Amino acid sequence: MAGSAGRGVALCVALSAWLAAAEEPKARNVVLVVSDGVRWQEVFRGADPLLMNAKHGGVRNVEALRKDFQRATAPEARQALFPFLWSVLARQGQLFGNRDRGSPARVANGRNFSYPGYNEMLTGRPDPRIDRNDFGPNPNETVFEWLNRQDGFRGRVAAFATWGVFNDILARERSGVAVFAGWSPPLGSDRPRLRLLEELYRTTTRIWEDNALDSLMHAAMKEYVQERRPRLLFVGYGETDEWAHAGRYDLTLRAAHQFDRFLADLWETLEALPEYRGQTLLLVTTDHGRGSGPSEWRQHGEKVRGSEAIWIGALGPGVAPLGERTNAPEVTLGQVAATIARFCAPGSEPRSLPEPLPF
Ligand SMILES: [Zn+2]
Repeated sequence: MAGSAGRGVALCVALSAWLAAAEEPKARNVVLVVSDGVRWQEVFRGADPLLMNAKHGGVRNVEALRKDFQRATAPEARQALFPFLWSVLARQGQLFGNRDRGSPARVANGRNFSYPGYNEMLTGRPDPRIDRNDFGPNPNETVFEWLNRQDGFRGRVAAFATWGVFNDILARERSGVAVFAGWSPPLGSDRPRLRLLEELYRTTTRIWEDNALDSLMHAAMKEYVQERRPRLLFVGYGETDEWAHAGRYDLTLRAAHQFDRFLADLWETLEALPEYRGQTLLLVTTDHGRGSGPSEWRQHGEKVRGSEAIWIGALGPGVAPLGERTNAPEVTLGQVAATIARFCAPGSEPRSLPEPLPF
């Protein structure tokens, strides 16, 4: 009897060890980076020659723009525009969304604009009630809010964004997530670099009332990462959408290229810190697509054809290096939330979430 009980205990110990191993998080940290309204067409085909002119793209210096971004083939053009995406992420990780090669990615909210998109991305599900950008505080719990209540993540969840509406999207007051959004992010001024950034935020002419400049937000975000080392971080750049609405294809491309440079800089910063190196999942995506055609590229929304089309990239532990996905099952934006939950707290994810991304 004693022997049998001993074997039972041993089996229990082995079983719980196996269960513990199965529940081990795949990555210690997750960083989700978004550039607003970047089309899949630019990501996979590079700059669009149809729009690199004054007539359709509002381009001021056509020659300089073509020199920087026009190339003979799509692989060369996308590499010139997004060097980090194509030489690092699409080699060591995965990139979904190339409709030319049978890998569709889309938003499922039917509205194809920002708040519904970010809600879907961060909660896992579209919410038909969210029908405008000034909707107010999000009634839904995002995966950021949920993780901010889990052991190991409490107080280690942060979001930086140029767009002020992220205070509502992430329900800053209720969720307790550290949100730094818009033109007056609560940076504090305890360090010289933060004091300088606070001054620049305060004194820079506001091109857009509710959307700050990517460069300021990026610099502030990097300071925070170095200082606080969050385990779950959202980073939202907004210029790509603003310049497209303004009809400036030149500045849209330059903002998209700079977004790629910011991404490389962030990844390098993370890889240099022991808390992040080799233990961080990077997810990169956008909140909606845009139309295609000589004027349609500027807009997006329910009535703009094709603006549900997006792209999603991933890099880090747990992501096989399959590169650009081809003939892949369709993925939707809500799977981003599910992937974050699965990576950070496997086995205890909220049941309302869809399947994680198929890495
Ligand atoms: Zn927009």
